[in-house]
Amino acid sequence: MSDISNLDNYLIFLKSISEDFVKIFEFQKEYLHCKKGCALCCKRGDYPLSQIEFDYLMKGYELVDENTKNIIKNNIENIKNGDKDSYICPFLINDVCSVYEYRPIVCRTFGVLTEDSKGNPSFPFCTTLGLNFYQIYDKEKKGLSSKLYKEGNFKNYPKIFRLSNNVIMNLPLAKKLNINFGEAKKMVDFF
Ligand code: SF4
Repeated sequence: MSDISNLDNYLIFLKSISEDFVKIFEFQKEYLHCKKGCALCCKRGDYPLSQIEFDYLMKGYELVDENTKNIIKNNIENIKNGDKDSYICPFLINDVCSVYEYRPIVCRTFGVLTEDSKGNPSFPFCTTLGLNFYQIYDKEKKGLSSKLYKEGNFKNYPKIFRLSNNVIMNLPLAKKLNINFGEAKKMVDFF
């Protein structure tokens, strides 16, 4: 299989899971505070992504103007030469993703309540900052509170989805399309 058809298949897959993510966001919307300009997730860590996601990301990079390219290149150099503990995604410019349509899968799930490998709810880090899902978060138990849910007059008890990279890359559609995701690593390690 050529790289081109692998990328084509990835785009079919991406379109399908992106539609699923829209439904997940819709289902959880009464607990979400995500909005344009909130880029906390993009400043949180160097999330792993696969080779095919990186290749697609770089297609977005090729389309930005020269000034934006220079800012991104400069950001990458700063990350490589600097303190990786204060990581900010190099594609984030003025708190906006410069390659938004081309962003990796993990970026498309920022902010939602997910399920960990043991079946427990895994809150987005911003819950403890008073953002997503804080309304139903029991700070002492560090978990979902049915008491807060009942008191809050919400419409939907949050349905939780398992969205780890491993689960997503092994979805039946990914298998059917025979997608070769390639090696997964931190973004900075691709440069
Ligand atoms: S690729 Fe875009 S959405 Fe993903 S972390 Fe970077 S700036 Fe944020």
